[in-house]
Amino acid sequence: MNAMSEPVPLQPERRQRLEVNKLSKRLHRQVSRAISDFNMIEPGDKVMVCVSGGKDSYALLDILLGLRARAPVPFDLVAVNLDQKQPDFPAHVLPEYLASRAVPFHIEQQDTYSIVKRLIPEGQTMCSLCSRLRRGILYRVASELGATKVALGHHRDDMVATLLMNMFFGARMKGMPPKLVSDDGRHVVIRPLAYVAESDLERWAEQRRFPIIPCNLCGSQINLQRARIKQMLREWEHRYPGRIDNMAAAMGRITPSHLMDRNLHPFATLQATGVSDCRGDKAFDEDDECSATQTGRPVRIV
Ligand code: SF4
Repeated sequence: MNAMSEPVPLQPERRQRLEVNKLSKRLHRQVSRAISDFNMIEPGDKVMVCVSGGKDSYALLDILLGLRARAPVPFDLVAVNLDQKQPDFPAHVLPEYLASRAVPFHIEQQDTYSIVKRLIPEGQTMCSLCSRLRRGILYRVASELGATKVALGHHRDDMVATLLMNMFFGARMKGMPPKLVSDDGRHVVIRPLAYVAESDLERWAEQRRFPIIPCNLCGSQINLQRARIKQMLREWEHRYPGRIDNMAAAMGRITPSHLMDRNLHPFATLQATGVSDCRGDKAFDEDDECSATQTGRPVRIV
């Protein structure tokens, strides 16, 4: 190779700037695509962003603020934090951060910590009751603030882990949807980070220096099953890069005729039609050409 064609090595600072730039573009593009794919935000919406002080919800707010600045449709944002009165909760951190971002915000103070402590026997996990109480309070606050959408910071890896947990421990194929209507039928909940990898959020949180509030203040045991599944996913991803992406994409490409749910496919009344159908018996084909040509690969969602 002659001197003319030899690539000039990038300075470390320049390389890092380029990497951060790439990460920022990817995050904004993925969130924007999720919003558009699932029609998450409509003109005139008031989106209540639930901010816990963890990396995911900080990133969600940060990215939505960036997108709103250049969004073709007008929408409002309001950040909401629920101060659950856990011991040593640094109550000043979020108000200071949110004020610095010039975003309207509301801190809801409710001592759910004492309620949960009182009702759950020592040693048992408190998360289920705690989440239920938190959800109810956040929905009430959404109504009081006139929010039309409630945005949560769950990401792609949370959604895949939930699907696996429901399969492994609940014997059902059920995940965590990018958009849903709350149980009381009054709120639309959205998850704009549905396409975003957790590792990207970790890097973004570091880069943006979010003032993270530790999530173990309540002293509850971490959910060991979820932690194990996340670890398993990380190991798979390390050995077979792209696997989590493909699992996430699979949640949006379901073939009921090749599963076993009798409510989704009329197995009992199936009859030969005499007409060739390329969506027919392809269950055992290694390379499913029919679906490849029908959906137009690629499978990856990023
Ligand atoms: S970890 Fe603590 S704050 Fe979080 S859901 Fe569980 S009990 Fe609630």
